[in-house]
Amino acid sequence: MPMIIEKLVVSPLQENCYIVGDDDSGLGIVIDPGDEAQRIVAKVQQLGLTIPAVINTHGHVDHIAAAQEVKAALGANLYLHPADRRYLPKIVEHGTMFGIFGAREPEVDVDLNDGDLIPVGSFVVRVTHVPGHTPGGCLLRIGDDVFCGDLVFSGSIGRTDLPGGDYEKMVASLEQSILTLPDHIQLHPGHGASTTVAVERQFNPFLRGLRPRPRNNGS
Ligand SMILES: [Zn+2]
Ligand SMILES: [Zn+2]
Repeated sequence: MPMIIEKLVVSPLQENCYIVGDDDSGLGIVIDPGDEAQRIVAKVQQLGLTIPAVINTHGHVDHIAAAQEVKAALGANLYLHPADRRYLPKIVEHGTMFGIFGAREPEVDVDLNDGDLIPVGSFVVRVTHVPGHTPGGCLLRIGDDVFCGDLVFSGSIGRTDLPGGDYEKMVASLEQSILTLPDHIQLHPGHGASTTVAVERQFNPFLRGLRPRPRNNGS
């Protein structure tokens, strides 16, 4: 199963949109189409992928502003955790604030929920609800690759001071859903470079005082 992972940095906020697919089936997903819909669609076409699903790690404008245009162009369904629908009515306004002028309010087709398994071609997307940065943030795991949105970055963590942010929940999500992952797992954040669990465990100053602990079920 040769995997394709393409990263496109989009929007003035330098957001990472990922295209993940497998060569065998020619099927893939788009994660967090935050801006520049035409560039994302062109890349999908260049890769020769069919995209049944656009999956969002969360509902912030810099991750979802191009979702409507991308899903319409590719004939895909949009997946988002229901707790992040709260951001959608303000997407166009927030887009203007951050210089994302093509922002459109997207229509969600499928609710993402903790524990969901979404089969795509020969791989499966495993969903973990990780509130904190936003109430409906989700990790998307495909094999040894984890797409973590704005939960954790290389050397940093996501903000919790924006509307819907919650520092206590952020700490719980990091302890239960990042620090419990095996060291070799690749982390692909919503901004900046990819990293590994081992590197962040050792060097991320925001994880230093935290310790792995089991989830109490759900979130
Ligand atoms: Zn965010
Ligand atoms: Zn972001």
